[in-house]
Amino acid sequence: MSIRPDWLDPEPHVARVEAARRRDVHAALAAEQPGIAEFAALLSSTAAGELEAMAQRARQLTRGHFGNTIQLYAPLYLSNYCTGGCSYCGFSSDRKQPRHKLTEEQCQAEMSALRQMHIEEILLLTGERAPEADFEFLCNFVRAAAVHFPKVTVEAFGMTEEEYRTLNEAGCTGITLYQETYDPTLYEACHRWGEKRDFATRIAAPDRAFRAGLRTVGIGALLGLGDPIAESISLYQHAAHLMKTHWQGGISVSFPRLRPEAGGFQPPHPVDEKRLAQLIFAFRICLPDVPLVLSTRESAAFRDGMAGIGINKMSVASRTTVGGYENGRAEDNGQFEIDDGRDVETFCTMLREQQLEPVFKNWDAVFR
Ligand code: SF4
Repeated sequence: MSIRPDWLDPEPHVARVEAARRRDVHAALAAEQPGIAEFAALLSSTAAGELEAMAQRARQLTRGHFGNTIQLYAPLYLSNYCTGGCSYCGFSSDRKQPRHKLTEEQCQAEMSALRQMHIEEILLLTGERAPEADFEFLCNFVRAAAVHFPKVTVEAFGMTEEEYRTLNEAGCTGITLYQETYDPTLYEACHRWGEKRDFATRIAAPDRAFRAGLRTVGIGALLGLGDPIAESISLYQHAAHLMKTHWQGGISVSFPRLRPEAGGFQPPHPVDEKRLAQLIFAFRICLPDVPLVLSTRESAAFRDGMAGIGINKMSVASRTTVGGYENGRAEDNGQFEIDDGRDVETFCTMLREQQLEPVFKNWDAVFR
């Protein structure tokens, strides 16, 4: 029996990508309501030759749906304890590095540092469920963060529907949970041990989160791990499934690209910036009203170029070590290396120079 859900079937569309001609790309660029056929055409090597036209269309749609705004958020790592064995991650339990977690006092100091930077949306992160940093640990910090931030989201381990409900009641508004790869065979090879190893349970987590009442779910594939065409089509299918099934919720799509980490994992399918730009434009053109997110994993130059041209939400001034804002330790390795290390003020100045408006406030929280 296949462990793939019935909505996940990238292969027929991968064949479409390979067969796409210029007329298919032009039709996709002009489509009023593009679907998966148009998306496949825009992923093709033929479309790679039309990147400028794709950028223009993506820009037009981004401005049409999100105005000139870029929504900003910042991550806060609560713990680097992890029982998972993901081969590509610096927090994997076989990596030799000091492990620690924030105390309540340290967390308050981190949050205060983020508030001073005017951050209003905070993403709390932990590794896979561990005795030192379990569900209760996470919930306590969600409660603490909800006092200070209008929007509190979580990127941690997959949970049961009941746990997501408790998280919601604690003040969490949404989760980010990447499938990493939608290829079950590759998934099994990369996720060597731990709860996350269960492909079917992981892929159904966003459904459980929405059923539990969480309002937003961010999804993504870890670019560089699997074939980027098949992964992008699968990610599109995942987005389409969630939008259809949980129409009252909001999804976002992120583009995490494998970055160097202390374990020295080499991406089997490296994605260069040109290819990444093409993927972002294809998603924007075919999912025009879905927030698209780009993190500080990417270079300042690339982020500057993507802001408002496909991307409408970005992390800023990120630290990927536990306590990286106020309580950082020099001996720590982050989960991955960041590339864009600019502070909030410098980043916002860049946005304003591009006639873009940085947005910190989450108005949804006010209306909630
Ligand atoms: S990706 Fe998450 S679960 Fe996997 S090793 Fe890293 S922190 Fe742990």
